[in-house]
Amino acid sequence: MDIVTLGRTGIKVNKNGFGALPIQRISRDEAVVLLKKAYASGITFYDTARFYTDSEEKIGYALSDVRDKIFIASKSMTEKVDEFWDHLHTSLDTLKTDYIDIFQFHNPSFCPKPGDGSGLYEAMLEAKEKGLIRYIGITNHRLAVAFEAVESGLYDTLQFPFSYLSTPKEIELVELCKANNVGFIAMKALSGGLITNSAAAYAFMAQYDNVLPIWGIQKDQELEEFISYIQNPPVQDEELTELIQKDKEVLGGDFCRACGYCLPCPVDIDIPTAARMSLLLRRAPAAMTLNDATKEKMKKVDDCIHCDHCKDHCPYDLDTPKLIADNWEDYKEYL
Ligand code: SF4
Ligand code: SF4
Repeated sequence: MDIVTLGRTGIKVNKNGFGALPIQRISRDEAVVLLKKAYASGITFYDTARFYTDSEEKIGYALSDVRDKIFIASKSMTEKVDEFWDHLHTSLDTLKTDYIDIFQFHNPSFCPKPGDGSGLYEAMLEAKEKGLIRYIGITNHRLAVAFEAVESGLYDTLQFPFSYLSTPKEIELVELCKANNVGFIAMKALSGGLITNSAAAYAFMAQYDNVLPIWGIQKDQELEEFISYIQNPPVQDEELTELIQKDKEVLGGDFCRACGYCLPCPVDIDIPTAARMSLLLRRAPAAMTLNDATKEKMKKVDDCIHCDHCKDHCPYDLDTPKLIADNWEDYKEYL
């Protein structure tokens, strides 16, 4: 079993955190079965967010009886102090708990600091003093904000996208976290569905002993996969190394991670789907990409008014309007 210590928090868990964003998409009863099974099988770290609709509520419903045996991380997207308190109290209520282990600023556009005028960091400190949260974390998709947060010494954990498709700069960020004793929580370890071999994804992560991946889990089959990695962690042997190398060559650096920060689109284009279609066509089951609903979604690319909202909000600096147009052309050809 691979154990991760989340930096200065001292939280020790096995390397399979439960990413609770996808449980929004299943019923409460299904979520309860999944979460109880996860806990019974040894998963003790659960990451959720105020923004994930009823995800917190489902965790509270399923796991409040074992609250002292698990770690809960949640987050708030607010940039206003009164809303921060609102969110925190709602999270505590819905999670049916008196405290949240790690409360994170959810992808803020800047790194909150004491005295910056926003009052956000001061609110976090007050929440910690009151015992409502145990540690202060931040999540982000922007490298500059992430580096600033780690270097500031103000944060106990950083949550950032990380996978074997990450760039050398992102690996540098992981190493900086280790040097600064900041826990690194890895989101998008399967890169928004582009990585289809979870054993390879895990094996890559296993090389970084300070990294805790939170796997987005919605189906029993996915849960089974990660449970099996608790007792039998995949290692990066020759076969997986070759697979990772091939994927890196195919995907290159300029691909859409499906983070959704470019949304909403004023003409309702499903940008994360459209921007990845060429890759999905060749990597995902045909039933997922060639159905009528997806065809309709792709047709909407023609409605683009080139407002550049998506391009201006993409943390990966993608030329999104061009990317979706190229993907649409490819899709038509493929059909
Ligand atoms: S540029 Fe096109 S795709 Fe992007 S937000 Fe504007 S309308 Fe939507
Ligand atoms: S285009 Fe950029 S912002 Fe939009 S989903 Fe893809 S990576 Fe995220």
